[in-house]
Amino acid sequence: MKIIDIIKGDRPSLSFEVFPPKTEVNFESVKKATEEIAKLDPSYMSVTYGAGGGTSAYTIAIAENLKQKGITPLAHLSCVSSTKGRVEQELSAIQSAGIENILALRGDIPQGVERSTFDYHYATELIRDIKAHGDFCIGGACYPEGHPDSPNWMKDLEYLREKVDAGCDFLVTQMFFDNDIFYNFMYRAQRAGISVPVVPGIMPVTNVKSLKRTVALSGNILPQRFYRIMDRFADNPEALKQAGIAFATEQIIDLLANGVNAVHVYSMNKPEVASAIKRNLSEIL
Ligand code: FAD
Repeated sequence: MKIIDIIKGDRPSLSFEVFPPKTEVNFESVKKATEEIAKLDPSYMSVTYGAGGGTSAYTIAIAENLKQKGITPLAHLSCVSSTKGRVEQELSAIQSAGIENILALRGDIPQGVERSTFDYHYATELIRDIKAHGDFCIGGACYPEGHPDSPNWMKDLEYLREKVDAGCDFLVTQMFFDNDIFYNFMYRAQRAGISVPVVPGIMPVTNVKSLKRTVALSGNILPQRFYRIMDRFADNPEALKQAGIAFATEQIIDLLANGVNAVHVYSMNKPEVASAIKRNLSEIL
């Protein structure tokens, strides 16, 4: 099934993101965790693509397994460390696995590599190649707080519009912790002529380590309310987890109450976190 048909449906959609193992040794445990999340019957599940493409076979294997379990998979694919030939092979493998949905990404630029030698520079180029390859539903990434490489948000939106025009059916946001940032972004995106559905990505922060990593990677603005929760419960892991899940649930309820019809949760291969969120929304969804 195409994800665009799911997120445009009558009922609100709740989906989960998982990541593939880095090595064969962890394949079975990751597969098991993703199957546990699949049992929650999410609207679809996305499977990330390891930076540099080293784990691409696992992305497809996990996504294919989810499809066999009855879940619509969204396979991530990044291009900046790849070649045109390699992308062709990946697309053929995705197609052979019966996966219809791809989240097309540039990926982060590897340190110390000369960019002029790359086959791909931006996700837009990958989207054009995916469209030429076959009948996929294509998603792209967007950044309510701006992408770190962008000189300003106007340029970011100009390039985002170009990406959508190249063939993006929907967008998924980088995580954010203040919904007003998302609402402001939506206003600016619509004014920039971006009219495809935008799915907010919500990250339940359930431990201090993941909080530090998250903020370092994304440079997110954190509301005072969030800091207070983290400060108060930092030395009580179970309390912090509960508070992180409650914070994410509140964000989701506010989004749904404001007319958002599809939410994606960065569930980080944690069935218990995905399950708690699903349970918290049982009457709402
Ligand atoms: P692009 O859309 O290409 O944008 C990158 C930057 O280039 C932006 O600043 C943009 O404004 C600018 N730009 C775009 N076009 C032009 C142009 N023509 N000229 C000049 N500048 C331009 N990474 C992974 O490695 N694997 C994953 O599975 C993964 N999943 C992700 C899922 C989501 C929902 C999100 C939000 C991010 C994900 N990432 C993943 C991270 C992503 O790869 C990085 O953030 C990367 O730096 C940008 O990717 P992009 O596809 O947004 O790039």
